[in-house]
Amino acid sequence: MKLGSKAAPVSFRAVSKSYGGDVMAVDNIDLEIEAGTLVTLLGPSGCGKTTTLRMIAGLEIATKGQILIGETDVTKLPATDRDVSMVFQSYALFPHMSVLENVSYGLGFSGFPKAETRERALAGLDLVGLKGFDTRLPSELSGGQQQRVAVARALVLEPQVLLFDEPLSNLDAKLRRQVREDIRDIQQNLGLTVVYVTHDQEEALAVSDKIVVMRNASIAQIGTPRDLYDAPA
Ligand code: ADP
Ligand code: MG
Repeated sequence: MKLGSKAAPVSFRAVSKSYGGDVMAVDNIDLEIEAGTLVTLLGPSGCGKTTTLRMIAGLEIATKGQILIGETDVTKLPATDRDVSMVFQSYALFPHMSVLENVSYGLGFSGFPKAETRERALAGLDLVGLKGFDTRLPSELSGGQQQRVAVARALVLEPQVLLFDEPLSNLDAKLRRQVREDIRDIQQNLGLTVVYVTHDQEEALAVSDKIVVMRNASIAQIGTPRDLYDAPA
């Protein structure tokens, strides 16, 4: 089988998030993410990248403003009711489950029949270059391969939006380059909407259609890699 995409756009309209108290983790941001594009949130630690990403996932709820995925206002919608998947920097694989079981995990919950679950999971592994690794345990894989399993697990759900929070942090420099190129290839081949968080400018310039530079809970600049390279704010 061939995995497809239900890629949707994402809009932030005057969105703020505070975790209680006066400090704003995200302060009044407006952002349009087009369907089928890879948009990077770039900025130093603490500037609000993860909070922004988690509001798309529904893992945090905005204090003010409105978030749309496609035509739907998801501002108050819980994570389980959103069609979004997330890849974390720690791969969060189940150590006692095989690679195939790990990739199938979310599909089981989503109510896919057994045969289709297996087919989808195998297609996902194929996409990330891990054909034939289905019966291995995570401990029998390298860090880069484990992160590919995590990517496959998110891909097979064919989410409207796929989120990555510093997915390469635990990999060495050479693997980082390889995996980021794989992510970009898959995103372009399937036409996925991807929101990708990093603090690494070079990484952002390499993979993005658009880069959103964040500073102190706000957006400092939005542009293509070319724009930012030519005229950094
Ligand atoms: P980044 O991902 O860019 O490093 P975060 O979104 O994690 O930034 O954090 C933005 C701000 O919100 C920081 O000041 C951080 O300390 C604060 N923050 C993040 N998560 C929480 C939380 N669960 N409770 C309280 N403050 C938080
Ligand atoms: Mg973060």
